[in-house]
Amino acid sequence: MVNKVGLKYGPAVIEGVTKDSVLIVRLKELILATRTKFQEVQVVSTYDFGRALMLDGYIQSTEADEFMYHETLVHPSMVTHPSPQQVLIVGGGEGATLREVLKHSPVKEAVMVDIDGELVEISKKYLDFMHKGAFDDPRAKVIIGDGYEFVKRENSSKYDVVILDLTDPYSTEIASKLYSREFYYEVKRIMKRNGIMVTQAGNSYFYPRTYDYVLSNIKANFRIVREYWYWIPSFSYACNFIAGSDVLDPAGMNEDEVNKVIKERNVKLRLYDGKHHISLFKSRVLKSDFIRE
Ligand code: SAM
Repeated sequence: MVNKVGLKYGPAVIEGVTKDSVLIVRLKELILATRTKFQEVQVVSTYDFGRALMLDGYIQSTEADEFMYHETLVHPSMVTHPSPQQVLIVGGGEGATLREVLKHSPVKEAVMVDIDGELVEISKKYLDFMHKGAFDDPRAKVIIGDGYEFVKRENSSKYDVVILDLTDPYSTEIASKLYSREFYYEVKRIMKRNGIMVTQAGNSYFYPRTYDYVLSNIKANFRIVREYWYWIPSFSYACNFIAGSDVLDPAGMNEDEVNKVIKERNVKLRLYDGKHHISLFKSRVLKSDFIRE
């Protein structure tokens, strides 16, 4: 993952965007490189994005732009739900998704299930700008385990919002079954009738076939399915998100309604607001007809 790319670059990480295109990010420092039971973990310091977490060679989040990803993943569904008291997060090892969920005053409990306990400890130690102490919030309950097994064993009709913040559907094996039809069936089972779920869904442009697989599995389980995406500079693509519910429609909220909820719940944000919300559901998600996955 960390190669000498050439004198003009010096040490850098080379991240595969597709099998034929890469992103080269020049490094200031390799802070940590280790292998946990589940994945290769690098914590690096970069010139363009500050400190970053990489898993199996893929940038997961960076100091410079993680707020764009985490606010766009979390708030459209949390704001659409009238009173999100019981929230489940699957994945999100850095703790930033947990941080964003806990900003909503109605939240009574945020359960975060991540398969990799070593990664959570690394995040606590090296990525404090991501979690900002969220792991210590009395409403947070962090469970280390496979999200697929947890959801299958969980009680029915428990959660108002379910947020799936997993590694990409086309990256490593450990998350692949959490993009399946069966998994979304179980997610729906553990949601309350007016619950809403959202998942990060990688990138529709570079991985159209994988994206369509995830989308069809969500559509097979939920009546209302809304797709959106947002440019994340350090990913060098627009990250896709897909929300599903039988009752709630994030695309049905107008700018004033979103801003009213943000104000009532006193949610402090850097990017997301009523305008951002509307723009997310107005933009068309694109798929390359040139790239063959
Ligand atoms: N922001 C990243 C992105 O956009 O790709 C993803 C966030 S996070 C780093 C991905 C998390 O998914 C990791 O913490 C990883 O341990 C977790 N994960 C992967 N497979 C899992 C599984 N089967 N159950 C629970 N967590 C899983």
